[in-house]
Amino acid sequence: MKVVRFHAPGDVRIENAPEPTPGPGEVKIRVRNCSTCGTDVKIWRFGHHHIDPPRVMGHEVAGEVTEVGAEVTGWQPGDRVQVIAAIPCGRCDQCRRGRMTVCPNQESIGYHYDGGFAQCMIVPAKVLAVDGLNRIPDGVSFAEASVTEPLACVLNGQELARVGEGDDVVVIGSGPIGCLHVRLARARGAARVTLVDLNRDRLDMAAALVAPDATICAAETDPVDAVLKLTDGAGADVVITAAASGAAQEQALQMVGRQGRISFFGGLPKDKPVIALDANLVHYRELTIVGANGSSPAHNKAALQLIASGAVPVADLITDRLPLENALEAFDIVSRGAGIKVTIEP
Ligand SMILES: [Zn+2]
Ligand SMILES: [Zn+2]
Repeated sequence: MKVVRFHAPGDVRIENAPEPTPGPGEVKIRVRNCSTCGTDVKIWRFGHHHIDPPRVMGHEVAGEVTEVGAEVTGWQPGDRVQVIAAIPCGRCDQCRRGRMTVCPNQESIGYHYDGGFAQCMIVPAKVLAVDGLNRIPDGVSFAEASVTEPLACVLNGQELARVGEGDDVVVIGSGPIGCLHVRLARARGAARVTLVDLNRDRLDMAAALVAPDATICAAETDPVDAVLKLTDGAGADVVITAAASGAAQEQALQMVGRQGRISFFGGLPKDKPVIALDANLVHYRELTIVGANGSSPAHNKAALQLIASGAVPVADLITDRLPLENALEAFDIVSRGAGIKVTIEP
């Protein structure tokens, strides 16, 4: 079978590999769609400290069961499935308290285990142990199902930021994650959603798809002034930074209203993780600042349901479909921000 393997930073190869056989507790799938995201581009360029190469990349996986290992019950060939990306241990204190996204023993598909940029993939026993293999509902395509994982992460972020009915929500960053934040905020009853990006072309492309109530091009207008103007000086209820930008985080603090919530959804570059934060703004305005670290198996189930019910449509966000051989071209599209969701069909 063909696979996309990471060997070293800048060295990702399309290779032939023997088809894997599922061991006890494992399931083998024929991957139908594995979508790409900024993380794949980062791995391609810089590697990742959890990846011990060579490693098959790809973590937004949907496919079809072709073989089940010994001791596996409930799955059979032909079942259409979506796979979680972050695998919590299910046994530590954090997991037992229901905080699976911050499990210190967390492992990941495409990092600790060979991933979905391959014609076949083994679903590790640890995924099945935490109920991380989900049946794709009828009517949901493999491509749509492959967007479950990023949507699950977005759902985790909005739960932590308590996005809800009547909220005035600002999303900074109009990439695929920003688009999913706009759609999910609407589904959760937000009264107004404003999308902000520095790049005019990217903002226009995203806005044409997800139709936010307002857009702000941060290269043309000061986004803090613009949000304050939109909200008659009150500031937004929720600001989500879906960009790896310390400046965006600082702007979020300036544009959020009283008792507002800020989600630092996107992490910052490792060499630049410190921002300026006026602690008195947090204190007097009773602000809440939350992070977001991936998603739990339960978030994946809920996200797949949001897609299936039509509450969060994702089909139109898939702008590019490429065969496995063109994975590097796919990463390039992602890195240039030329598409929204770019999926590989191995
Ligand atoms: Zn991803
Ligand atoms: Zn754990």
